[in-house]
Amino acid sequence: MFPAKFAYAAPQSLQEAVGLLEDPDAKVLAGGHSLLPLMKLRLAQPKLLVDIGKIPGLSYIRVEGGQLAIGAMTSYREIQLSQDVHQHAAVLAEAAHEVGDPQVRARGTLAGALAHADPAGDMPAVVLALGGSIKAVGPDGERDIDLDGFFVDMLTTTLQEREIIREVRLNAQQAGQGAAYLKFDQPASHYALTGVCAVVSLSGGSIASTRLGITGVGPKAYRATAAEQALAGKPVDEDAVRAAVQSVADGVDVLGDIHASPEYRAHLARVLARRAVLEAARRAGGG
Ligand SMILES: Cc1cc2nc3c(=O)[nH]c(=O)nc-3n(C[C@H](O)[C@H](O)[C@H](O)COP(=O)(O)OP(=O)(O)OC[C@H]3O[C@@H](n4cnc5c(N)ncnc54)[C@H](O)[C@@H]3O)c2cc1C
Repeated sequence: MFPAKFAYAAPQSLQEAVGLLEDPDAKVLAGGHSLLPLMKLRLAQPKLLVDIGKIPGLSYIRVEGGQLAIGAMTSYREIQLSQDVHQHAAVLAEAAHEVGDPQVRARGTLAGALAHADPAGDMPAVVLALGGSIKAVGPDGERDIDLDGFFVDMLTTTLQEREIIREVRLNAQQAGQGAAYLKFDQPASHYALTGVCAVVSLSGGSIASTRLGITGVGPKAYRATAAEQALAGKPVDEDAVRAAVQSVADGVDVLGDIHASPEYRAHLARVLARRAVLEAARRAGGG
């Protein structure tokens, strides 16, 4: 299907882009791999596309102050190939490798995926597990948004109408930490039926702390905080971890559709959480 008619603008600066977003029917275009399919289905009908892909200097990966700083137009492919990502948050490259196909990874951006907040997207789970923030620019200047609390509901974030993500900042992994992202995907699209990212810190052979990001289960990606707390102090042991992650889907309005029932998704979340925690602990040096 063809999209409805729209105008196109290619601003040269973020300030110009924010100005163009004054039009309530305008939408930011980055890699286009979520927005254009929605437009073709007429589920989105923006009158103006504001293409931030022509703004110089938005595609970069830097290591700054113990964090990875990732520019808004940085593609999955650039993340996959970045030595800095492999060195400081290899799980991000691992997860990027899991997204769609080579065409999607060449054009799709991390910032676009977070702004889109697809409940089955891979990246929301990974950024929640790593922790960090988003730098967003809008009519009132720039603000930092903690990633905890960024995802509000299905396709909804705390970004305001005219705000643009300029940069994503993710905590670099520390010594004694390991991370893993595991997903059970829908075979045609490779979207996550369920995906779990675990970042585990060990101390004296036991689990000191864990961050668990979950996607595909509820209307938004979330951290399984009860399971994170239950894991603290536990040995790196299959039975102990299994018991601690039983709550990962508790209190969540679990999705059901033609691909998987709510019960199946909740089951997958528990299984993948156990496996991801054990793999992350193994990578952290715990056997
Ligand atoms: C065939 C196919 C398979 C896919 N498989 C997967 C998969 O397995 N896993 C997965 O996670 N995803 C998958 N995707 C989705 C893909 O990862 C996302 O489309 C992509 O990452 C979104 O980024 P984008 O740059 O393409 O955003 P766009 O499509 O350009 O934009 C998406 C939304 O975010 C907004 N936006 C974009 N950038 C910004 C910004 N900097 N600031 C504010 N708002 C912004 C846009 O206005 C729009 O509303 C698939 C897509 C396709 C087409």
